[in-house]
Amino acid sequence: MNYIVVTIFPEMFAPFWEHGIIGRAIASGKITAGAVNPREFTNDRHRTTDDRPFGGGAGMVMKSGPLAGAVRSARRRFPEALTLLLTPQGRPFDQETALQLAGQNALILVCGRYEGVDERVGDALIDMEVSVGDYVLTGGELPAMILMDAVTRLIPGILGGEASAEKDSFSDGLLEHAQYTRPRVFEGRGAPEVLFSGNHKAIDDWRREDALIRTLLKRKDLLEKRGLRPEERKILKKWVRDIERLLDAQSLPGADPSSGA
Ligand code: SAM
Repeated sequence: MNYIVVTIFPEMFAPFWEHGIIGRAIASGKITAGAVNPREFTNDRHRTTDDRPFGGGAGMVMKSGPLAGAVRSARRRFPEALTLLLTPQGRPFDQETALQLAGQNALILVCGRYEGVDERVGDALIDMEVSVGDYVLTGGELPAMILMDAVTRLIPGILGGEASAEKDSFSDGLLEHAQYTRPRVFEGRGAPEVLFSGNHKAIDDWRREDALIRTLLKRKDLLEKRGLRPEERKILKKWVRDIERLLDAQSLPGADPSSGA
């Protein structure tokens, strides 16, 4: 994968490209990353990249000329690249989009600033608009980093164990199961006993069940969208039976009536 970011703040990317998994991927040559600054494509003394909006109104707009010059220069380096504009008006970025983008050879990521970019740059040069969420940031640089981070870890050979990306939240339409590490007891709280059993099947079953239940509790919308698999229906029916048994026990003579049963 080759990334080129079009930004008036290229220095924001240096620390991001030097650390962690992204830093290692660049150092080992598995990915490349660079920036093109629209200021290099201005022809006035002040190297102006913004101007007042036609029709008036607050704020400034990124000028089409410098931005188009920067995008075209990036495209000359990677003619096959997909050109993305980071914008709150774009397609919501999710794990599925990240997986699709991970299959590309090159991505050009165009970062807006001010009130956004001149619409005609989008019309002429952008293949896809991407949003990182329904909120408005001051620039596209953080969204570009989010995108590169999520995409890079899905490129085969980037993570230590391929399995770690496969089992992540969203990869199977569910959130990932809870994770624990040493110490075995932290401030009086233990970890599930099954994780120390050495029984891999029991551990896998526990993890599948935990993933399903935490998705139901935290992100029911994901389950509604994806539907339930037969083994997951069985797990949920077992939970329903357990809950019913508990409720029945509460309504027996001698049970506390203030419990709301
Ligand atoms: N006026 C624009 C609008 O209402 O759609 C917002 C412009 S925003 C202040 C400046 C730049 O930040 C945008 O051009 C875009 O590149 C970036 N940006 C802000 N929020 C974003 C988001 N949620 N996803 C992706 N990019 C975003």
